[in-house]
Amino acid sequence: MTSSIQPPIIRVQDLVKRYGDFEAVKGISFEVKEGEIFGLLGPNGAGKSTTLEIMETLRTKTSGQVMVGGYSIDTDAAAIKSIIGVQLQASGFYPGLSLLELMDLFNGLYNERADALSLLRLVNLEDKARSRYKSLSGGQKQRFSIATTLINRPRIVFLDEPTTGLDPQARRNLWELIRRIREEGTTIILTTHYMDEAEILCDRVAIIDEGRIIAIDDPSAMIDALLQSGFTRQQAVKAASLEDVFIHLTGHDIRED
Ligand code: ADP
Repeated sequence: MTSSIQPPIIRVQDLVKRYGDFEAVKGISFEVKEGEIFGLLGPNGAGKSTTLEIMETLRTKTSGQVMVGGYSIDTDAAAIKSIIGVQLQASGFYPGLSLLELMDLFNGLYNERADALSLLRLVNLEDKARSRYKSLSGGQKQRFSIATTLINRPRIVFLDEPTTGLDPQARRNLWELIRRIREEGTTIILTTHYMDEAEILCDRVAIIDEGRIIAIDDPSAMIDALLQSGFTRQQAVKAASLEDVFIHLTGHDIRED
């Protein structure tokens, strides 16, 4: 799928962001390959959203270089906006409008004519097309916001904590959706606090702490490296988790209708 000869679709070099005297991002560098699901992990306040919003051209940097899809954020922000999909927070949607009305609104804003129904079908919300946004469950709202990121047929989709607050079934459903979008060739950059999510979903992750990248690799290589360093868990590891028990007992079906 990705070739080593291809230039990276995103290149961040020595990125610094200061808010007044406080340095939130302290000179980070990384690359994202086309077609990857790339995760930015880290505790609260690590600088994930700041980094994401700078790549999205929504926030200014203090210094460093950021290239997105071959364009510089300094000189080509408009071109970048045309090739990326950005997820709005729930507050960005008029609650009283139906999903079709909201899609129409976004089509107008992007000057696009995306087929709203087929996008709703992709995110499993076709039967909710005429329902109001405010009547959706948490998982449905997240899926709808992902559908709106696809209106301009973006090459890159940015998702900021896409599964926060969802129950295990809805999270799994969203992981499947994110994989489906990637299968169409779209690159996905997401932030998450959930390590199981990153391990299952991401091809590569960068762990950010206090504004610095402290590790970057594919999740399985990171785990192998830790084990090779002699690490063992204090508790005996069972071959299943409580979450496995929960899903086994309650099933994969989503409960939002
Ligand atoms: P994360 O997404 O990893 O939780 P953020 O990028 O939101 O981290 O924030 C990184 C740091 O920068 C935090 O300490 C946060 O308080 C600070 N910060 C974020 N936005 C602003 C702002 N507009 N003004 C001042 N400080 C900010």
